[in-house]
Amino acid sequence: MSLPRQTILVVEDEAAIAETITYALQTEGFAPVWKTTGRDALAVLAAQPVALVVLDVGLPDRSGLDVCRELRKRHTVPVIFLTARSGEVDKIVGLELGADDYLAKPFSPRELTARIRAVLRRSNGTAAAGAAPAGWRHDEAKCRISFRGQSLDLTRNEYRLLAVLLAAPGRVFSRDQLMAAAWDDPGAAFDRTVDAHIKTLRAKLRAAAPDADPIVTHRGMGYSLREE
Ligand code: CA
Repeated sequence: MSLPRQTILVVEDEAAIAETITYALQTEGFAPVWKTTGRDALAVLAAQPVALVVLDVGLPDRSGLDVCRELRKRHTVPVIFLTARSGEVDKIVGLELGADDYLAKPFSPRELTARIRAVLRRSNGTAAAGAAPAGWRHDEAKCRISFRGQSLDLTRNEYRLLAVLLAAPGRVFSRDQLMAAAWDDPGAAFDRTVDAHIKTLRAKLRAAAPDADPIVTHRGMGYSLREE
């Protein structure tokens, strides 16, 4: 059985590094797509399925951190950051951007492909386990979610929040991650806003199925959707 080659989006403005990476990816059986700006990277993500993004923090048009924040609004694709300075690592970890891993320059291509394989294994595992949790139906074209046969009447933010949780059942999302994914302007919202929307979401789910409590609170960490 031969699987189609998985697309890896490489966002890196230094040609020498990008060439080394894309060559290593091709050799390892991936289909790399190379872009040098955040803008072009987001355009690729909007246009085609991507298995994983390798994202340089220092890009010419905007920081890789901003690009990650932007792509998290629409995509759950795994992201591995490339960093040039240790201060950047602190930011990636501190901002909880939903990065799956990071690698400090200089690194060997072999190390990067090993990390990519590890992240893909992890995320494919999650997706397979939670592809269609029992009781849920998500019609992405119509932006409708139903639970136990009841169509839910959701506000825009409630819908986006629930869609993020539904895409990866069992995965714990921090409030920052949920906010980045569900709000157009996360900077303008506060942690409590996520809590408030989870509360109204829970009330609507209770109305649809009184005996179910599908959203799990992880104290000090965030929320996840119960894996049925
Ligand atoms: Ca750079």
